[in-house]
Amino acid sequence: MNSLSHLASLVSGYDPDALPVAQAQHLIGQFVTPVTAVEKLALRSALDRVLADDLVSPIDVPPHDNSAMDGYALRGADLHATQPVTLTVAATVLAGGGFQGTLGAGECVRIMTGAPMPAGCDTVVPQELTQDASETAVTIPPGAVKPGDNRRRQGEDLQAGKPALRAGKILRPADLGLIASLGIAEVPVYRRLRVAFFSTGDELRSIGEPLDPGCIYDSNRYTLYGMLARLGCEVIDMGVVKDEPAALEAAFRSACENADAVITSGGVSVGDADYTKQMMATLGEVAFWKIAIRPGRPMAFGRIASNGRSAYLFGLPGNPVAVMVAFYFFARDALLRMMGAYAEPLPRLQAVSQAPIRKKPGRTEYQRGMLSAGADGRATVRITGSQGSGILRSMSEANCMVVLHHEQGTVNAGDLVEVVPFDGLL
Ligand code: AMP
Ligand code: MG
Repeated sequence: MNSLSHLASLVSGYDPDALPVAQAQHLIGQFVTPVTAVEKLALRSALDRVLADDLVSPIDVPPHDNSAMDGYALRGADLHATQPVTLTVAATVLAGGGFQGTLGAGECVRIMTGAPMPAGCDTVVPQELTQDASETAVTIPPGAVKPGDNRRRQGEDLQAGKPALRAGKILRPADLGLIASLGIAEVPVYRRLRVAFFSTGDELRSIGEPLDPGCIYDSNRYTLYGMLARLGCEVIDMGVVKDEPAALEAAFRSACENADAVITSGGVSVGDADYTKQMMATLGEVAFWKIAIRPGRPMAFGRIASNGRSAYLFGLPGNPVAVMVAFYFFARDALLRMMGAYAEPLPRLQAVSQAPIRKKPGRTEYQRGMLSAGADGRATVRITGSQGSGILRSMSEANCMVVLHHEQGTVNAGDLVEVVPFDGLL
């Protein structure tokens, strides 16, 4: 079912020169499968890794009803709606301490934040709302609190026997803390996804090499490194590979023998020296798509094999911005799926465009933008200069992608556009 020719048959209804972005994303998502190997890691080492099993809570968190404030714990029934109430202070309970007795009518306990609620108490009045507090008595004005206020319930955060986290969750700082709150020291995570990548092109020089006439430095390997590292992949940087059949074949074979996925840049457009496409086609089942997108129109996707090992292949375009767009909007979701992660959809916000943006219906455009809060407090976005697919500065100066949808036409100044922010708080 998951053969690429089957998948290709699903897109036969589309113009081969303009495969819609959503369709390409869907096909890739259907084709890839997650890694299965699981390793147990010490909690700290599991940061940014993908949880491999549901994590069932062994205890209630918090393990006991406790106070949310510094103040006095009392019986809600003792409060009076219109009259001040003076209660006897029977004891003091600190966080980590406890009160063994049961509170009688007219009594209260001085209590600190996090201290267990004494038996019989259901309410805490914060210290600052009390009057005439002494060692032995305290007065509570009418209306200061309602019965049940300022009490944290046992298990209100996590309940024993229930899943605290689901398999597929990428473990973020809050999750490490949450797992620690359960007293769990080791967690099962999927093994890291191994991704090999190389750049293709006779014109490319690596950093440290002299820049011969007509040549440029390879930048794609560095953006790819950054994007893959951020995603939590183990990376194998294979350098620059010349547009020569033997060199390309050796690189593709080594890549797919050693990695789960192979990402290349360059050589998938219709240039004379693009042996890359031929080589991909020789080694496996690879579809060459012309996607209705800007930038990043040509792309190869499939599975290649060598010596009994195989890997998914993403043949990204060569232009530096196109590489990033194709990575983020085609490879990223697929890699997350291969990592075993369930990825929440990216937050997509609406922002007011500060200027007109020319756009033809019939393709999805990803422009680079700077998102900020306007004077009226609404989100506003400005495009970061020239949007050529080779102009990496447009990406470097941006903090979001402006997504102009397939059917969308030209945007007027003041229109709302969709943006995908690059970075969140985490
Ligand atoms: P190609 O897809 O191989 O035809 O490349 C398209 C454009 O991207 C050409 O101008 C290439 O020089 C440029 N390019 C390809 N690979 C890289 C790279 N690794 N770093 C920077 N520019 C590149
Ligand atoms: Mg090339």
